[in-house]
Amino acid sequence: MDFDLYRPLEEHDMLRESVRALAEAKIAPHAAEVDEEGRFPQEALDALVANDLHAVHVPESYGGAGADALATVIVIEEVARVCASSSLIPAVNKLGSLPVILSGSEELKKKYLAPLAKGDAMFSYCLSEPDAGSDAAGMKTRAVRDGDAYVLNGVKRWITNAGVSEYYTVMAVTDPEKRSKGISAFVVEKSDPGVSFGAPEKKLGIKGSPTREVYLDNVRIPADRMIGPEGTGFATAMKTLDHTRITIAAQALGIAQGALDYAKGYVQERKQFGKPIADFQGVQFMLADMAMKLEAARQLTYAAAAKSERTDSDLTFFGAAAKCYASDAAMEITTDAVQLLGGYGYTRDYPVERMMRDAKITQIYEGTNQVQRIVMARNLP
Ligand SMILES: Cc1cc2nc3c(=O)[nH]c(=O)nc-3n(C[C@H](O)[C@H](O)[C@H](O)COP(=O)(O)OP(=O)(O)OC[C@H]3O[C@@H](n4cnc5c(N)ncnc54)[C@H](O)[C@@H]3O)c2cc1C
Repeated sequence: MDFDLYRPLEEHDMLRESVRALAEAKIAPHAAEVDEEGRFPQEALDALVANDLHAVHVPESYGGAGADALATVIVIEEVARVCASSSLIPAVNKLGSLPVILSGSEELKKKYLAPLAKGDAMFSYCLSEPDAGSDAAGMKTRAVRDGDAYVLNGVKRWITNAGVSEYYTVMAVTDPEKRSKGISAFVVEKSDPGVSFGAPEKKLGIKGSPTREVYLDNVRIPADRMIGPEGTGFATAMKTLDHTRITIAAQALGIAQGALDYAKGYVQERKQFGKPIADFQGVQFMLADMAMKLEAARQLTYAAAAKSERTDSDLTFFGAAAKCYASDAAMEITTDAVQLLGGYGYTRDYPVERMMRDAKITQIYEGTNQVQRIVMARNLP
């Protein structure tokens, strides 16, 4: 798509308006309860599917909306503004399916992208393992060729939407001698015999987003479920993250915007020393800093989205920088929002403490912010 480097088009602004209206009407009312009960945000999934916003990145040729990278960012941002857990639906649908879009055969694309686009199936991404997090290439899950099939064995850890998704992109070792070049990617289906799931993790935040282990016990799948040639799975997994770290930045922006919007309203209403606390310069300066950091993060994220759309040569740096900067900003902004509400901000009667807990994960997943700094240092512009 042809759009200016950083400036959203009118279509993007219209998209934002419609997603915001939908998110406020159908997703926001359930956000506190989803968090409190740690349950899957089914209302959000239903609303997103009904409005074709659950996997907007799927190309039109496979039945999708064909949204560009910036439009995808805007959808995730607006959903995260009211409910971070729900924003994992469009975000992880992109994360899980992008390996197929980037490197899969035509047959795989047709078979797996159409149900995703229709809202009949969700996609998860299985890279991490109990002993292979930041050092993902140290994974142990094995895929062994057996005639016209591969047999997978291993444990994938921290898998978002595990158990809910029908499809799983699984990275597994096909040649242990070659480390990252001996890793291949496969599509595994929830219904494949030998696939099972662990108990949901008890988390600090994004409590409505299920995070579970995926167990692969002699899972036999046809060889044509391999994504790209043997030994290219790790490269595909990393290329995917270059694009999808921008969606984590989007999530961070949304969470931070939600907290800033709430705090802005609160300081007008709350009175101390006989006047609204918004009248105090100390409070005004905090809000100014929050808005400044958020806007800087947004500009970097939109620039990265434009680079993702064009697959620019500096995308790796920009993807890592946007994720790292926006998530650090979101942590600071949500912490300041709690501060601006004083004691009330520290309670579950107000949404900012949930936003602060939710913001934390954006500094950790799709590579911790230490790992992002390693990636940036290796790819300095
Ligand atoms: C809620 C949640 C959802 C997730 N969803 C998914 C998913 O859907 N799919 C998936 O594959 N994974 C997922 N993850 C996994 C996530 O990407 C990893 O947790 C993350 O990459 C960190 O790995 P780790 O937890 O093993 O931490 P570790 O790698 O053990 O890191 C521990 C600490 O050491 C630091 N560290 C490690 N190496 C270095 C280094 N070289 N230099 C400096 N510091 C370093 C880290 O930054 C961190 O602070 C999810 C995780 C969570 C918590």
